[in-house]
Amino acid sequence: MDVSQRFGGLQQEIEENVGERIVALRRDIHREPELGFDTEKTAEKVLAALEGLPLDLETGVARNGIVATLGGERDGPTVALRADMDALPIEEETGLPFSSEIEGRMHACGHDGHTSMLVGAAHALSGMRDRLNGTVKFVFQPAEEGGGGGRVMVDEGVADDVSSIFALHLWPGLPLGKVATKAGPIMAAADAFEMEIRGSGGHGAMPHLAADAVVIAAQVVTTLQTVVSREVDPVEPAVLTVGEIGAGTAFNIIPEKARLGGTVRTLNQDLRERMPGRIEALARGVAKGMRGDANLDYTFSYPVTVNDGGAADRVLSVAEDIFGGEAVLELPNPSMGAEDFAYFLEKVPGAFIWLGVGEDISGLHTPRFAFDEEVLPRGSALLAALALEASQHLS
Ligand SMILES: [Zn+2]
Ligand SMILES: [Zn+2]
Repeated sequence: MDVSQRFGGLQQEIEENVGERIVALRRDIHREPELGFDTEKTAEKVLAALEGLPLDLETGVARNGIVATLGGERDGPTVALRADMDALPIEEETGLPFSSEIEGRMHACGHDGHTSMLVGAAHALSGMRDRLNGTVKFVFQPAEEGGGGGRVMVDEGVADDVSSIFALHLWPGLPLGKVATKAGPIMAAADAFEMEIRGSGGHGAMPHLAADAVVIAAQVVTTLQTVVSREVDPVEPAVLTVGEIGAGTAFNIIPEKARLGGTVRTLNQDLRERMPGRIEALARGVAKGMRGDANLDYTFSYPVTVNDGGAADRVLSVAEDIFGGEAVLELPNPSMGAEDFAYFLEKVPGAFIWLGVGEDISGLHTPRFAFDEEVLPRGSALLAALALEASQHLS
């Protein structure tokens, strides 16, 4: 039996059987966004939506995460499918009838969609246990947007018995419903820094009696741009962004201190490890030359998200069989965004997949991000098919 026969009608079946339910769940989660590890109500909604399915449920994983396990009728490998559940501290401006009811919080990264798609896959696979070898773990993770919920789940053993793992992310800029992935790095490592610039304060009219932390900070920000442009191999991707700058209390006072905050994105581990040393040396050199000094506090955060070559190929071929070749894209390049699914992929071979929501869609992490819910059963079908496919081939 070829793959298309095995997965024929899967998307339609999901649409008919649970389409309304996953849309309702998505809207319910969207109305009440929760942040970080505090996804208690979202987890309750997920549990309610899974009720009646033949799953072993483990709750309280990484505080408010859920691992739901489905046993197939025959022995085989354990395949995991993961979705993230947390929202962002953004005030929603979509005007949708099911907009966030919580001020200053919004599902602006589509995690409400990811969670609903995974629930849809759990429903579909629960009805196909006779075709499933081994076990499927449905992993609902809190704290993707900072906090590293994925790392906590891996530390708590969620990936220990897993032979392959897959996760989807809704992706603006990619045509609606298009499935894209690649072998190797697909998302960057995201590290963070804070810097305190110290000078000496004084009267705004007497700069010669002070060491101006504002001017030092301005020079440091500009000079840091040369780390990427002058010190990194031009064909090696790297980003250094200073996103925060703060100093001063009044227009006529030279402040003693200034503070910078920034992020560094890389794909190469050696380069990643070299960055803090170069940032510190340059910043201190500039600051000292201007009679001040600088202090760097550097945090290595999410690692590079690296897809297994075989798993990425399987995603592309399964997606092609379900949706047709025109709906599938092998990505030429990774994104310099980051994703804590990286922690799972450090432990288990698998793939992170982008699912298009359209080219004219407001970007992720923006107050107007919204997507066509038509994409939800499509994502559920892809996840379910990947679990079925992996269970056939790894036993
Ligand atoms: Zn995000
Ligand atoms: Zn996200």
